[in-house]
Amino acid sequence: MILFDTVTKKYKEDITALSDVTFKIDPGEFCFIIGPSGAGKSTIMKLLIREEVPTSGSIFFNEIEVPKLNRRLLPAYRQKLGVVFQDIKLLSTKTLEENISFALEILDKSNKEIKDTTDYLLDLVGLRERRMLFPNELSGGEQQRGAIARALANKPDLFIADEPTGNLDSQNAIQILDILKRINKSGTTVMVISHDLNLINNTSDRTINIKDGKLNSDTAPKEVVKNKEKDSTKEEVKVEDKKEIEISKEFDDFSKTLKEKLKKYAIKSPEVLINITTQDLKEMKLSKKENKELATYVKKYLSQKKDE
Ligand code: ADP
Repeated sequence: MILFDTVTKKYKEDITALSDVTFKIDPGEFCFIIGPSGAGKSTIMKLLIREEVPTSGSIFFNEIEVPKLNRRLLPAYRQKLGVVFQDIKLLSTKTLEENISFALEILDKSNKEIKDTTDYLLDLVGLRERRMLFPNELSGGEQQRGAIARALANKPDLFIADEPTGNLDSQNAIQILDILKRINKSGTTVMVISHDLNLINNTSDRTINIKDGKLNSDTAPKEVVKNKEKDSTKEEVKVEDKKEIEISKEFDDFSKTLKEKLKKYAIKSPEVLINITTQDLKEMKLSKKENKELATYVKKYLSQKKDE
């Protein structure tokens, strides 16, 4: 789901926040990114949400090459991610319930869906009784749980929590971790960024340790590795069985020759298409007609996305 491939990020010539960092996170994983303050952890998050771009190396989220993502598609991309930031919490002028329903309103959900999802999320974080309170009437732990509920409103594929237990006592920290685990059990990939080593005491969860911008260690618990291996073998067999890559129905109107080329280069969906580089295009050796077909499609696709 996530691939960081030899990623280096320099903020200025003399500040290297990340240096040749490589790791991969599978769908459904629960993963800690641990390391001392200044190690480069938040930079990983900023690169993932495309707040920053790497100086070198590549980053993929599913099939999307994040640094190359067209600016116009950023809002749609970020909707796939649920992020709880260290400092940014709930809107102070809205009640807890309004904070969550507001996140759903801007996604244009129906009133019924807004109510049902808000109820579900309030239950998930154990704050149904506190729904009418404003953020300053909630404890630190409750505010954090509220922020988690709000970040889940758009049903993200990946949930990232940056220092979710910072400033909380151990009781509250355990409660937050428990909620993050439940979110993961429901199928969402979860990434927890923290400098708090207490969090990973006795944990069997995947732990990526960052130190001075470098990947210091990366553990994976044995059992999970075994299961994952089993799953991935299944996946490989499936892929091998399917000799031909299927391309999206979105491409149905393209000419036969163009469709063949898209298949050959595994450009199977609009998301992949908009990320291809000029170099890729050169290699595909498109005819003038095919070039025009693609250009017209991409233009239409991007303007539709913009309207959305
Ligand atoms: P962590 O989250 O592990 O505390 P960060 O990723 O925030 O670490 O920071 C890594 C390094 O990059 C630090 O030395 C920090 O000062 C530097 N850094 C982070 N953001 C910026 C920025 N916007 N401009 C310059 N330096 C930055």
